[in-house]
Amino acid sequence: GGKDEGIVINDGWPGYSLDLFNYPTHYSGDLECVYIPHGVIMDRTERLARNIMDDLGGHDTVVLCVLKAGYQFCADLVERIKTLSRNSEHTLPMSVNFIRLKSYVNDQSTEDLHIIGAEDLSFLTGKNVLIVEAIVDTGKTMKTLLKHVEAFRPKNIKVAGLLVKRVTNSSGCLPDYVGFEIPNRFVVGYALDYNEYFRDLNHICVISESGKLKYKV
Ligand code: 5GP
Repeated sequence: GGKDEGIVINDGWPGYSLDLFNYPTHYSGDLECVYIPHGVIMDRTERLARNIMDDLGGHDTVVLCVLKAGYQFCADLVERIKTLSRNSEHTLPMSVNFIRLKSYVNDQSTEDLHIIGAEDLSFLTGKNVLIVEAIVDTGKTMKTLLKHVEAFRPKNIKVAGLLVKRVTNSSGCLPDYVGFEIPNRFVVGYALDYNEYFRDLNHICVISESGKLKYKV
């Protein structure tokens, strides 16, 4: 089949009222709506795990988790691939490694992208690599990371991104596996932060204007 571009969330999607779900009271007033409930993220991740297994199953793979925002998606995705591996003849042998990137201050992307730790990715040479990221906005981060990873000559590189934003200034760089395509709104939760806040929220939510002010640096 054609490329799976993910569950498309339209520009007009208002999200769900916060009153319909549980979330920590320390964030009351800081959020506008629940954009993608945790359960939907889990169900979509389960399907992505199957798609990845169908494509990469049988090949030793190095999972490269992009921190910090990617940790939750990576953990849940790996967990589901493990479940598939122990319940069928078809398995995906994985090792997991981490890389940390930072480019955002407040809700703005900054020009300089820092790769922190694991600058030496020589362990990727000749390997099948699955890069796992939480969100692709302009795609600049992904492009820079791909260039960095390619320099170590892996056998094959695939990218899984939970969220891809519909933006006009996209670099054209898109993940091979996409969870959701979302409008150009700043989202938090499920390990996505705003100045380190909201990582401890399980749903993906839209931050409110007062929330932005409260946690601005
Ligand atoms: P890009 O280089 O694709 O423009 O930006 C990607 C990075 O910006 C992501 O890895 C993420 O750290 C951050 N980012 C982009 N959009 C959002 C968003 O809506 N919420 C959060 N929390 N981070 C975002």
